[in-house]
Amino acid sequence: MIRVYNTLSKSKEPFEPVRPGKVGIYLCGPTVYKPSHIGHMVGPVIFDAIKRYLTYSGYEVTLVVNVTDVDDKLIAESARRSMLMSELAAEMTRDYMNNLDAMGIDTVSHFPRATDHIDQIIQFTADLIQKGCAYESDGDVYFDVSKDEDYGKLSHRTLESMIGEGGDTAERKRSSADFALWKSAKPGEPSWSSPWGPGRPGWHIECSVMSSRLLGETFDIHGGGLDLVFPHHENEIAQSECRFGKPMARYWLHNGLMQASDEVGKVGGRATRPAEDDLQSQSAGKISKSKGASAFSEMLKEFEPENIRFFLLSSHYRRPIDFSSERIREVGTGLESFYRFFKRYQRVTGRSFYEVAAATRREEGDFDPESDAVLVEVSERRKRFLAAMDDDFNTGGAIAELFELMRRLNRQIDDEKLEEPNRQSAERIAVLRQGAATLREIGLTLGLFRNPPKEAEARGDELAGKLLDLLVEIRTEARKAKNFAMADKIRSSLAELGVTLEDRPGGTEWTIGK
Ligand SMILES: [Zn+2]
Repeated sequence: MIRVYNTLSKSKEPFEPVRPGKVGIYLCGPTVYKPSHIGHMVGPVIFDAIKRYLTYSGYEVTLVVNVTDVDDKLIAESARRSMLMSELAAEMTRDYMNNLDAMGIDTVSHFPRATDHIDQIIQFTADLIQKGCAYESDGDVYFDVSKDEDYGKLSHRTLESMIGEGGDTAERKRSSADFALWKSAKPGEPSWSSPWGPGRPGWHIECSVMSSRLLGETFDIHGGGLDLVFPHHENEIAQSECRFGKPMARYWLHNGLMQASDEVGKVGGRATRPAEDDLQSQSAGKISKSKGASAFSEMLKEFEPENIRFFLLSSHYRRPIDFSSERIREVGTGLESFYRFFKRYQRVTGRSFYEVAAATRREEGDFDPESDAVLVEVSERRKRFLAAMDDDFNTGGAIAELFELMRRLNRQIDDEKLEEPNRQSAERIAVLRQGAATLREIGLTLGLFRNPPKEAEARGDELAGKLLDLLVEIRTEARKAKNFAMADKIRSSLAELGVTLEDRPGGTEWTIGK
């Protein structure tokens, strides 16, 4: 039985989907106004693993990730770059999709875009006015939170605590806690015609519209970062439940935020506190472009996608993630030990680990270990892995079992001296194969070990490039310091190695070979 922590009830609950055998998941996606950074990959990697695990457990899963392509931030950034909002959105959506591809996230069933749903958003908004939950004011439309008796039930706040200053639209609202469903357009802004005049949708309404269209009025899991609990998800609930008169989603799952561990004002850390108590402090320290997180496409030049996935899944999804290059590298060292085992497996069996046939369904992977000591432990590690995942998708605990399983198989190869050809017996090799099949089976439920890692030689080329850049930089410094002997030595020594340097107005370029 799978159990999940539900932000709504602040407790772990047995997972029972609305329709038996089927699961609908909606994850709030990016606002596409700047290139993705690592923080944008956290939710997709976690929910990709959750979908894989649920599919393995026998469910038919639909995963929806929306793309917010109309928003104040998009309007401001496209004006700054003198381009159309739609052009900016297309460019940044491409960047996001390329990053998901690189990360091997191919489980998303739909990527609905807000601007493809303007008619439905207008209809939804009109319905809310008709039901008395919303009102028009000077070309804007607001949701009237006083009409929602349980407003605040997700974030566990009282209405009084949410009354703020109301921002620059305060005079148009009945209460400062009311939020915009439709915003009238200022001159020159992108707009669509509506019964309330030209304007654009607010942010929250798009998720109520697209989730109900693709997953139904009540669906199973709504996910997102912890920073979205309030106001975004609280407002989604208010809108959807006012319109449909039934719960929007059964389970609300929120992932911890990524924070730079070397950042001033760092908070949290690898918390032992429950993540939900960290809401305020996590938002304060969360990583974002403005705090210097580099574009994810740049990060992919430094780290292998599987290393990043392994890093993101190595702790529980509700915990804050301490982000630093050292930490990713540290986790990468652990991943390398799996790669070494895979090579060893190939030496012993003559077959690639990546070709081992593995069960894709939970019940298919069950086997009887009889009384073989190795298989008894393989079976036990598999059970513990599944128990960790069943317990609110504890990927960190599950990965710890993967390590134990891999170490056990290494020990079998050592103890039984399976690398010595004359010591091999078909029976002992079969035991090792069963162990490898189990390792591959459960690894795949996290999206791990799908394809062989890039060979060291290929990674070596990247290193060579970086070393050449460094030498060119040192030579430039030498020339600036009028140390021409050193500059010439670097040039001639590189020429001997087949590397040509060309001094151009913009700097020096190197080429290998002819
Ligand atoms: Zn959303």
